[in-house]
Amino acid sequence: MKIPRRTLLSVPAAALAAAPSLGPKLAAAMSSKVLKRELFNEPVKIASVELLRNGKSFIVRARSTSGVTGYADAHSSVMSVAYPILLKKVAPLLVGKDARDLESLLEEVYLANSNYKWQGLPFWVSVAVVEIAILDLLGKVVGQPIGALIGTPRQQRIPVYRASSHRGNSADDEVAYLRKVVSETGATAIKFRLGARMRFDADSTRRDLALIPLTRKTFGPAFTIYADGNGSYDVPQAIRIGKVMEEYKLAFFEEPVPFDYYDETRQIAAALKIPIALGEQEASLRGFRRIIEQGIARVIQPDLLYFGGLIRSMKVARMAAAAGLVCTPHMSGGGLGFLYVAHFASCIPNAGAHQEYKGEDDSLPVHSATSSLESEKGMLTVPTGPGLGVDIDPAFLAKAQPVTA
Ligand SMILES: [Mg+2]
Repeated sequence: MKIPRRTLLSVPAAALAAAPSLGPKLAAAMSSKVLKRELFNEPVKIASVELLRNGKSFIVRARSTSGVTGYADAHSSVMSVAYPILLKKVAPLLVGKDARDLESLLEEVYLANSNYKWQGLPFWVSVAVVEIAILDLLGKVVGQPIGALIGTPRQQRIPVYRASSHRGNSADDEVAYLRKVVSETGATAIKFRLGARMRFDADSTRRDLALIPLTRKTFGPAFTIYADGNGSYDVPQAIRIGKVMEEYKLAFFEEPVPFDYYDETRQIAAALKIPIALGEQEASLRGFRRIIEQGIARVIQPDLLYFGGLIRSMKVARMAAAAGLVCTPHMSGGGLGFLYVAHFASCIPNAGAHQEYKGEDDSLPVHSATSSLESEKGMLTVPTGPGLGVDIDPAFLAKAQPVTA
């Protein structure tokens, strides 16, 4: 069969070469078991799963019948809207069950009552924060950090990057801001935003073309610089901007075109040397398999909350590892999101060079006996205590009230 030359050019050489052996490896990683049930000798029966609120903060509290309690910060901005989904479609399905079966229970939650029709950010965040509270509980039962329950703790000190959420300011103002957040945290990497977010405009492109060289000039040759296109370009514009990023040795180019433009992203990946990063909007394991198998991106970015928790995200990290790719989870919201990312990055084999750290956020007062929970000279220490390894301020918890739907 004669394959049109245009078709051949649109498929990355690496994907063509890897395709015959990669499929079975990805299938195995996707269906592999993550939670180490063998760590537990006895059933851990779930007595209750509650959603609590204090001010703007939402917290999940999971209790076992033997009196062990796990907590998770529940992505407050999402939960302020999505709480009925957690309370009606997720939490009730776990009460009375054995927490050692969490992995299969979450698969059942997806299928029960046609919940799969609800999948997307509000559903998966609800699943994720309940999962994390139960993982915190399980970690406390066996005296292990959650990384040891779902993987192999490999690094306790995580290099962090600071991301800017600005857009529309001048290149000079943006660099001044980036210098400030780098000096506050000692971060050895930054990520800034390009484009106009899911639409193109010429003014933002002029800012992009000034900002890319200015960040390199400001931070020097050894600094790691990432940039996020937030789906702002089409294929020719993305390739043009990507070539400039390559000239100034940026380290990855995130979401150059809208996130679900898979074929277009693959064309951009094939035309550029700079790695393409993708995944924060992805809700499907199969979707990630497609991204990895078809060479659409080389930096794989599940959002630990938007994607439904650490166990599902671990399967994505394993698929990426099977293809020789790095996994740099996306961090959404504030609160303890940075802590979830740090635990996850500590126990996967293919963590990207830096993980996102959003900086000071005291909306949920927590303390850790084994970590300052701050970036020190650009490094965040992963708590080694049981579960998440943090304690929420008891006075804050005492004022939190149960949420009902
Ligand atoms: Mg992004």
